[in-house]
Amino acid sequence: MDEKRPDWLKIKVNVSKSQEVTDMLRSLSLNTVCEQANCPNKVECFTKKTATFMILGNNCTRNCTFCNVEKLTPSLIDIEEPKKIALAIKDMSMKHVVITSVTRDDLDDGGSSHFAKVIDEIRKYNSSVTVEVLIPDFQGDEKSLLNVINQKPEIINHNVETVPRLYSEVRPMAIYQRSLELLDRVKKHDKSIITKSGIMLGLGEEHYEVIRIFQDLRDVNCDVLTIGQYLAPSKTHHPVIDYIHPNAFDEYKAEALELGFKYVASSPFVRSSYNAFEAMNILNET
Ligand code: SF4
Ligand code: SF4
Repeated sequence: MDEKRPDWLKIKVNVSKSQEVTDMLRSLSLNTVCEQANCPNKVECFTKKTATFMILGNNCTRNCTFCNVEKLTPSLIDIEEPKKIALAIKDMSMKHVVITSVTRDDLDDGGSSHFAKVIDEIRKYNSSVTVEVLIPDFQGDEKSLLNVINQKPEIINHNVETVPRLYSEVRPMAIYQRSLELLDRVKKHDKSIITKSGIMLGLGEEHYEVIRIFQDLRDVNCDVLTIGQYLAPSKTHHPVIDYIHPNAFDEYKAEALELGFKYVASSPFVRSSYNAFEAMNILNET
């Protein structure tokens, strides 16, 4: 199916425009999920000087079949990383940053204290920046989650990615209920933090199952939802089962808003952090 992408998924990109940001990130040995996940919005986001930083190395301890991140031995933690990221954000004059990580099941706290240090350093060097963290599930450990919550990022994002029926083939080391519980705990500990989650379409899910996810997320008071088309990074990854028409994305958006989400981004190229700054502005106005 990947060889026959529909017209709405064919985009022309000007790679040279994003080179300046790519070069700067490489010179500081910083990882971005934009490059690791081969995100289709990379040129647009880099041109606007926005990016999603990936901390805690670039090798993941999990084996999601949709994901392009390397699944090798986890890297040593770079203790200079928090400061390097903070300075890169300052250099890029960013107003809203997204910080995410590979999953580090090998670490006692899942890397949550490192997340906390990154947020702390960002605040030191960038007094007005808003911070969004896209976090792993920390294997359900509440204490680890609290390390992040206590730093008061403006947004805590944790993606449920797909419908629970497909977890065993798409996200085999994750647990759907555990992900919902994480979002629930954030709100219970600190109502002022915006919670966010996202899913990919085209993995073989049914319409009624998608609506069920929306309801489950609203039941734990999730505020923001992102919905995008899954694109397989290679032939060895989970195959694309369907290309969802843009009109269907619009319909899903309307249904999600009806259920009470404060902000929904839904279109084929939406990724978790796409237009995160614009979303933040809209949320601040509500
Ligand atoms: Fe990076 Fe997110 Fe933009 Fe993709 S959408 S390029 S991951 S900032
Ligand atoms: Fe990729 Fe995240 Fe899954 Fe790791 S946990 S394989 S980074 S999606």
